[in-house]
Amino acid sequence: MLAHERFHSSVSRYFDRAARLSRHPAGLLDFIKTCNSVYRMRFPVREDDGSIRVVEAFRAQHSHHRLPCKGGVRFSPEVSQDEVIALASLMTYKCAVVGVPFGGSKGGVRIDPRISSTGFRERVIRRYTAELVKKDFIGPAVDVPAPDYGTGEQEMAWMADTYRGLKPGELHAYACVTGKPLELHGIPGRREATGLGVCMGISECLSRLKDMKELGITPGIEGKRVIVQGLGNVGYHAAAALRELGAVVVGITEYNGGILDPKGLDPAAVKAFFTDRGTMDGYPNGTFFENAQALLEEECDVLVPAALENQITPENAPRIRAKIIAEAANGPVDADAEKILLQRGIFLIPDVYLNAGGVIVSYFEWLKNLSHVSFDRMTSRYTEISRENLLKVVEELVGKNIPAEQRAKIVTGPTELDLVRTSLGETMARSYHAIHDHWKVHDMEDLRTATYAYAIDLVAKSHLAHGIFP
Ligand code: NAD
Repeated sequence: MLAHERFHSSVSRYFDRAARLSRHPAGLLDFIKTCNSVYRMRFPVREDDGSIRVVEAFRAQHSHHRLPCKGGVRFSPEVSQDEVIALASLMTYKCAVVGVPFGGSKGGVRIDPRISSTGFRERVIRRYTAELVKKDFIGPAVDVPAPDYGTGEQEMAWMADTYRGLKPGELHAYACVTGKPLELHGIPGRREATGLGVCMGISECLSRLKDMKELGITPGIEGKRVIVQGLGNVGYHAAAALRELGAVVVGITEYNGGILDPKGLDPAAVKAFFTDRGTMDGYPNGTFFENAQALLEEECDVLVPAALENQITPENAPRIRAKIIAEAANGPVDADAEKILLQRGIFLIPDVYLNAGGVIVSYFEWLKNLSHVSFDRMTSRYTEISRENLLKVVEELVGKNIPAEQRAKIVTGPTELDLVRTSLGETMARSYHAIHDHWKVHDMEDLRTATYAYAIDLVAKSHLAHGIFP
């Protein structure tokens, strides 16, 4: 089976396993599983030397039960129709379990971002956006892309600019895409949202006393040994946030090697070194592994695959020595590997919940773009004045003044970043305990099955509420 077929088949098997436990009608379950629409396109783009290259790209909208659809766009030479369909379906289930009112979608462009110039990437993404506009596959009320593997804020800025140029006068044009730079109506906290959400999800998992007792580890992040695969947007921010909470990042890998240091690595220093040299070989601390995959098999408490799908397969699953695998990437563990890991007592936090931080904060960015005002603007000063008034009453009652430093801490109103971070944390925590309860209350096999079952039930109820259009 080819890699993209394996990923598609894993997602399909995960769905079927959970659907078998559902009481909803078989036809409705079939409809939920099916991808609603796929646009496959080929368009010409000028290479830097003036020659013309035909680029293949996709956009899949898995579910329209809530609109707009939402999902990233990736640049990768491996992109295929099966892959974007599987990723779009994960988006539907993900949005459902974290209570974000979107249907799932995903886009992919078959180019290698590592060897593409900035100019080429700009021409590709602008043309891709124009193709989506032509077929009504993008727009604030229709389908809203975001960054994914191989794309980032810059690509989102080019998409927004192209869309705006093709849709003059559209009031909410900037809400056509999220993950934009702050200067172009982005939101503080979006860049690190997925990685931070991963850290928050791991922290919730580690807080469940009974689960940790069964795994034979102490509750809490403090001192946990972590290995992170992939030092991109998700991997880097997850590693940095985990370290900040007291975890020891003992291993970090990239596509061309990794480092292991039981004393702990500083992700910021490793990232700076890797960005500068293009390799971790020569990093002053730890041991360099030329074979990055082998490093995933080192002993640790939490393994965080944050690169691509199919990283843990039946081939390496028997050698994984982590206690917990935290799926920061989409589909890093295939369905056959999962069986082996579960039999070996390894705990899996599923992608369909764990990497939802990005779409949660994208939702906030979309809301901000529709309302054309930042979240703190209308509340911050008012909060400060009310707290000042409250403190004055307290001071009069107790006959003492609160020291200036403490006073400033209590009185200062929340910034937009504070609001984004606390809402992200609250959503990740609430959702973890909801899927965990679903798992235990319905006595399901494992957390992934419970998460899919929970999502299927929510999407089914939404369809039933709408009724079937004649
Ligand atoms: P990215 O392009 O920023 O980073 C990916 C990193 O992984 C790159 O540095 C790349 O060189 C590295 N990599 C590639 N192959 C590797 C290998 N075999 N071993 C180790 N490293 C390897 O991408 P990203 O946005 O961080 O996305 C990573 C994963 O997270 C993808 O599965 C994506 O779908 C998922 N995800 C991303 C977001 C987001 O907001 N960006 C949200 C949800 C899920």
